Amino acid sequence: MALKTAQQYEDSLRKLKLKVYLQGELVDNPVDHPIIKPSMNSVKMTYELAQDPQYEDLMTATSHLSGEKVNRFCHLHQSSEDLVKKVKMQRLLGQKTAACFQRCVGMDAINAVDSVTFEMDNKLGTTYHKRFIKFLTMMQEEDLTVDGAMTDPKGDRGLPPSKQEDADLFVHVVERRQDGIVVSGAKAHQTGAINSHWILVMPTIAMGREDADYAVSFVAPADAEGIFYIYGRQSCDTRKLEEGDIDVGNKQFGGHEALMVFDNVFIPWENVLMCGEYEFSGLLVERFAGYHRQSYGGCKVGVGDVLIGAAALAADYNGAAKASHLKDKLIEMVHLNETLYACGIACSAEGHKTASGTYLIDLLLANVCKQNVTRFPYEIARLAEDIAGGLMVTMPSEKDLRHPEIGKVVEKYFRGVASVPTEYRMRILRLIENITLGTAAVGYRTESMHGAGSPQAQRIMIARQGNIEQKKELAKAIAGIPAQ
Ligand SMILES: Cc1cc2nc3c(=O)[nH]c(=O)nc-3n(C[C@H](O)[C@H](O)[C@H](O)COP(=O)(O)OP(=O)(O)OC[C@H]3O[C@@H](n4cnc5c(N)ncnc54)[C@H](O)[C@@H]3O)c2cc1C
Repeated sequence: MALKTAQQYEDSLRKLKLKVYLQGELVDNPVDHPIIKPSMNSVKMTYELAQDPQYEDLMTATSHLSGEKVNRFCHLHQSSEDLVKKVKMQRLLGQKTAACFQRCVGMDAINAVDSVTFEMDNKLGTTYHKRFIKFLTMMQEEDLTVDGAMTDPKGDRGLPPSKQEDADLFVHVVERRQDGIVVSGAKAHQTGAINSHWILVMPTIAMGREDADYAVSFVAPADAEGIFYIYGRQSCDTRKLEEGDIDVGNKQFGGHEALMVFDNVFIPWENVLMCGEYEFSGLLVERFAGYHRQSYGGCKVGVGDVLIGAAALAADYNGAAKASHLKDKLIEMVHLNETLYACGIACSAEGHKTASGTYLIDLLLANVCKQNVTRFPYEIARLAEDIAGGLMVTMPSEKDLRHPEIGKVVEKYFRGVASVPTEYRMRILRLIENITLGTAAVGYRTESMHGAGSPQAQRIMIARQGNIEQKKELAKAIAGIPAQ
């Protein structure tokens, strides 16, 4: 089977024996948990659209391994065109879910691990790439969702892994055995972990010789013995437990993050993709982060499209749509959103082939893309709140609207233009609240800031890639100063 249906995906999750804690309780059935389910629906959309002929070109690709049609989330980019299609696919999914659809981290991880293991084997004579390709073949055949797990809890940020008071603050090898390794530690902020079949663990920073035990990469089933999860809270998450579908803002879709803990987990050698080759950990981080910074030029733009549409409807519904300043604010939102998209497309179009054959984005442009993402969604959200008016945070609940007596009062006082039902106005304001302040704000705002690395991480890469020396030579040539 190369493509799972959405239902097959859901059924496959039911077979996993995940150990998940949510708000202090062990969850019996994560798939049907009302707080988790909307995030599962978002991942489901990546399967559903792949079955739709209308989206086939973006959502699927031809595997370079088998020649079969596979979901693009399981594909290694074989051209710049593939990189461009990836960003377009992400924008589409952002538009369809208005949430984080979670499957990008795994796609970005496989693409990074492919080229790095290939180059590592060439240089060191190791055999990791062959193992990786075996895993990828299974991932493509079974259309798996894979969690890309990079970020360690990191403890004292001023200290390297080996100098931390608690060794578990970075995932590390605790035992080397004939048949494999045993690892302990944790990965924080893991997007879509509870909706994943497998996890692909990577080191989180460049490391030195003394950190060799922490330079470890491997794949593991998400329900492997010794792995458990603690589900992350989101603003307004318990609205998902309420009846009704207005107050939650986006009833159907969401995203999630979790702390993923490894308590002495055994990893057979065939699943180990790096073990001690510390000199390659920095390259893996750089490539994964590069792909993930490209991703945000697609997914955040798709959610931005929904937010701009919601803001425009809010203006329509309160009768202010003709005001020139509101029209201009919508233009500004579009301008910012399309600038992010332009960066996502540009770093893809300028992609190049790596030694393994997999295409890599232009790293400078991908970092510029993400640096803009740390800013523009905040400005877009600010403008959406301006256009929405204060009601998006002071409005009564759906229960009040449905109440036999006070419902009439809510109807009367919260109507904007006479032709639009009050309920529609409430729905659109709740959607804006959801994306700017509620559960979806995790993916749209704070993930824009820290996901794929905090702003300073991009500035370091821009400094490295920006080639100021060459620019000095350009200036000298124009100014008539001899080159050295
Ligand atoms: C919504 C969301 C989803 C995410 N999804 C994933 C995922 O799926 N997989 C994954 O692996 N990761 C994921 N991440 C993690 C993300 O990559 C990290 O949040 C990011 O790398 C920043 O790390 P941190 O959150 O620990 O922040 P911190 O390290 O605590 O950084 C806080 C501030 O301190 C600064 N700082 C930190 N260390 C230093 C230092 N040594 N010197 C100087 N300044 C420093 C930073 O620049 C930043 O300004 C996600 C994060 C978010 C918010």
